[in-house]
Amino acid sequence: MTPLSSFPDAAAASTRRAWLKRFLAASMTLVAAPPGQAAFEWKIVTRDGRDHVTLRDIQRFYSFPRLQRDGRNAWLKSATMVVKISVNAEDIYINNVKFCLCFPTYEQGGDILISRMDLAKLLDPIIRPTKIGNTVNFDTVVLDAGHGGHDSGAVGRFGAEKVYTLDTVFRLQKALQAQGLKTLLTRSTDVFLSLGERVAIANRTSRSIFVSVHFNSYSSSAIGLETFALAPQGTANSYDDLKNSDFRNRRGNARDSENIALATAVHANALYKLRSVDRGVKRDRFSVISGIEKPGILVEGGFVSNALEGARIHRPEFRQSLADAIAGGIRNYRSAILRRNAASGTGTTLSG
Ligand SMILES: [Zn+2]
Repeated sequence: MTPLSSFPDAAAASTRRAWLKRFLAASMTLVAAPPGQAAFEWKIVTRDGRDHVTLRDIQRFYSFPRLQRDGRNAWLKSATMVVKISVNAEDIYINNVKFCLCFPTYEQGGDILISRMDLAKLLDPIIRPTKIGNTVNFDTVVLDAGHGGHDSGAVGRFGAEKVYTLDTVFRLQKALQAQGLKTLLTRSTDVFLSLGERVAIANRTSRSIFVSVHFNSYSSSAIGLETFALAPQGTANSYDDLKNSDFRNRRGNARDSENIALATAVHANALYKLRSVDRGVKRDRFSVISGIEKPGILVEGGFVSNALEGARIHRPEFRQSLADAIAGGIRNYRSAILRRNAASGTGTTLSG
């Protein structure tokens, strides 16, 4: 049995060549057979040395009752989920939440092709989080207030990022404690902490997940919420070109599925609760999420550089709502993990 989440996408190869070789060696008859289902034979289409799967196969594998097509857009629909995929697109939408793809889609033979990487590292953990293997059964959340001390982070008209992040983290700590979770703050005062120190705190905290809170700065018109999960090995940071260093395995890549599931749960809940502009669940290799061995994400709660959003972030009520929304997302993620672990029993793994 070759489960979906252990497709030979980027496993242990340390160089681009070795990684490509593994990709090219992938046969056309890879079979994924989840428990209780008959073996499923994916049609694999290789282009530019990269494997792709068809939207029709995705529909069949996940039993979406409907696949609608209109021009360059297609929708997979079930009672609880709508996945919108477009031709030559860098993003997809799942239940109206935007996700950056690792590789763009394309059209061939009247079907839309999606990279196998995006299937394994994005769609699968989101569509069926209860199938994620080797999940961390956590009872502690390590909360990381971005910046501090001489590093103010982004400075807007109303205040500095380092002040807003610490205040949000304190509020988030209370909200998580109310859920019965333990919390640990990487910093609880206005001190500077290196990125390595933040990572070390997360890595020595057992049964934990890691949430880093930041606020954004860019051109004055930029606005909205974005949540980052570590980019999988062999993929570019969102909207960036692929670099040689992107083929290096990072410690956090061991948690790819949990990272994207946690990012999804938090981002979707925050969007819904805050009604922020959706900038998407994105991929990057920020040091704090590259080096940690626990599931981890980085949330950018809005732009202090935008006059309206900067004013909103400055209001304690907004930071309370943001904290509550992140805590709600963590609760949803934890429920999925607990369901998954209850269903599979202790010590078993569905990912091989
Ligand atoms: Zn920041």
